[in-house]
Amino acid sequence: MSADNELAVLRARLAQFARLCNNVPVAIAYYEREGYTCRYANHPYAAMFGRGEDEVIGLSFAEIIGADAAAQIQPRVDEVVRERQSVRYERQLLTAQGQRRHIEVHLLPDRDDHGQAQGAFVLISDITRHREAEAAARDSEERLSKFMHASAEGIVFHKGGFITDVNPPLLQLLGWTLEDMMGRSTLEFVAPSARQRVAEVIAAAPEISYDSVALHKDGREIPVELIVRTMHHAGETQRMTIVRDIRDRVDAEARIRHLAQHDALTGLPNRLAFDERAALALAAAGRRGEGLALMFIDLDHFKRVNDSLGHPVGDMLLQTVADRITAVLRWAPERRPAGEPDAAREADLVARFGGDEFVLLLAGDPGREAVSAIAAKLLSAVGLPLQVEGASISVTPSIGVALFPEHGQTPAELIKHADLAMYEAKSQGRAAWRFFEPTMAAAAYAALEMESRLARAVRDGEFLLHFQPQFALGGGTAEAGALVGVEALLRWQTPEHGLVLPDAFIPLAEERRLILPIGRWVLGEALRCAVRWHAANLAQVPMAVNVSTQEFQSPGFVEGVEQALAQSGAAGSMLELELTERMLMEDVATVRAALVRLRALGVRIAVDDFGTGYTSLAHLKHLPVDRLKIDRSFIADVPGDAGSVAIAGAIVNLGQRLHLQVLAEGVETEAQRAWVQEQGCDAQQGFLAGMPLPAAEFEAWLRARRG
Ligand code: C2E
Ligand code: CA
Ligand code: CA
Repeated sequence: MSADNELAVLRARLAQFARLCNNVPVAIAYYEREGYTCRYANHPYAAMFGRGEDEVIGLSFAEIIGADAAAQIQPRVDEVVRERQSVRYERQLLTAQGQRRHIEVHLLPDRDDHGQAQGAFVLISDITRHREAEAAARDSEERLSKFMHASAEGIVFHKGGFITDVNPPLLQLLGWTLEDMMGRSTLEFVAPSARQRVAEVIAAAPEISYDSVALHKDGREIPVELIVRTMHHAGETQRMTIVRDIRDRVDAEARIRHLAQHDALTGLPNRLAFDERAALALAAAGRRGEGLALMFIDLDHFKRVNDSLGHPVGDMLLQTVADRITAVLRWAPERRPAGEPDAAREADLVARFGGDEFVLLLAGDPGREAVSAIAAKLLSAVGLPLQVEGASISVTPSIGVALFPEHGQTPAELIKHADLAMYEAKSQGRAAWRFFEPTMAAAAYAALEMESRLARAVRDGEFLLHFQPQFALGGGTAEAGALVGVEALLRWQTPEHGLVLPDAFIPLAEERRLILPIGRWVLGEALRCAVRWHAANLAQVPMAVNVSTQEFQSPGFVEGVEQALAQSGAAGSMLELELTERMLMEDVATVRAALVRLRALGVRIAVDDFGTGYTSLAHLKHLPVDRLKIDRSFIADVPGDAGSVAIAGAIVNLGQRLHLQVLAEGVETEAQRAWVQEQGCDAQQGFLAGMPLPAAEFEAWLRARRG
């Protein structure tokens, strides 16, 4: 090969080498020892300092990299020269473009044949990205650790279920130290009942939240919520679990559950809880082929206690009743086979359904006899007097019993039937118990049907009035035989049953509170007729209207009367209200005030069915009453029956002494008329003198009479 050729090859090689040097991602330079003068720099090196490759040749390194940086690294350069060893260091650099970079610098000595360093190679790598990533990782780890310590919630890191870190709140929650917990299995700190689930979560590694139970050092179980996340921590993939103490929440939930299932006043289960448990008890008894008894207990006249003595006393009474019922069930020897503790009593249920209603479920196949014995005990135990603020009060219960399975298959059915039996006990004089009988259901169904028809009757105009005249007997100012009054009597014209008399529907209307709209209609209609007959000069006498207890006691009753008078254009003196003795015996002051206001309107007051209600004389004396109507049951047996004669005679006597008008009701015979006239009654009313008649017929009768 010629020297030229050789040179050409060398040149080519050199050019190739220069291309390589200029394209590697490393800055390369060579400085000779003498004056640290640059003899070579590749493109990246020169560019790093903002120069071209050729410009830097011959410059000192202080000139290239700047005096400050040169002073800083001079010791490393000296080291390379002195020790003839390569040196590595990192530093930060502000590039010619103003960027801050992290560089890693290698200084390699260039040794001559004697081992002396005659220069040094400089190799610089840009490690900015690397360092920044590291710093970021360091930062986030620091943040995480700070967060972990600052968090009020427990945090644990684990790897494959083995604990790598725990924060102080969790240590405190569980009662362990960090040393105790590090490296141990997380499962050791989980309650046995919750371990399987936790193990599953560790194995499957999902990101989830779930409720679990932690285990305290002392063995206590602590309800917790676990929030599990996969984290990169300390350069590794770990699982982070936030352990949230949910004891408060669990307690609150338990309290809410308790509240939802119990009656706050007595602490007994409420209807909701009863229905649930009764359904289970029924199912269990059904499987075993055993019977059950459901008792419905309602206190008699409890409302009266509540209204007159106040709610605190009422509440106290209910609590006492609850205790007494529970005690009776606990000590019911009739259900305990001799010498055996009674398992059935455990299954018994006592619940309060609200108000003064209690429901019992007697488990363990109690027979009718045992149930009767318990009912009798409840009757006497609940009815015992209770001392309240010096006073002695007592309320009796009425009890209805339905038996499973014969009287019903579901709790609802048994409750309904026991309730019916309870009503039966009440209607038969209260303070009693009754077993359910199928006829009760039939009667209840009929009542229900009538109730819904009654509710429509006012709207559909099915009511009408009959009128019965009242005549003077000649004892007072009016001449014998003169018309002194008219009584309006309610009738119900039903499409299904024809004309229905009031005794057949008024008690139900009162019970279901339908009497108020009915009473309003009666008053309005009676007054309209009175005004018409008055204007036509057919009857210048008061119109007597019957008032039920509920109407009289309803708020605004007097205002309602006032309004009815105004609407019909009737004067107050054209109206007589018939009240019963029972209404007058309630709270005297209130009753008196109402009567005084009615009297002020000019309305007259009559006491209906007098003699049946035992009104005390003293009482009557204080009330503004105009008239007594002797109940027709006394008149029916005069003059033959000595007892009736005595009573009716006494009433007339009493009326005269109190200066009240006395009217005899139900006079059917001439003998009765003669007797009441002889006694000195002012007036009579009855089939003898006049049957109750529909308005048109009564009006015709009035006209005929006048003509
Ligand atoms: P009451 O107020 O004692 O009405 C008199 C009842 O005796 C009426 O029965 C009447 O038809 C009946 N009667 C009249 N004379 C004789 C007689 O000589 N012999 C016999 N045995 N009975 C006689 P009625 O119409 O069936 O009313 C029954 C009860 O219904 C009334 O008894 C009254 O308490 C109530 N009532 C009637 N209308 C109304 C009303 O509009 N509102 C309210 N709340 N109750 C009413
Ligand atoms: Ca009457
Ligand atoms: Ca009467």
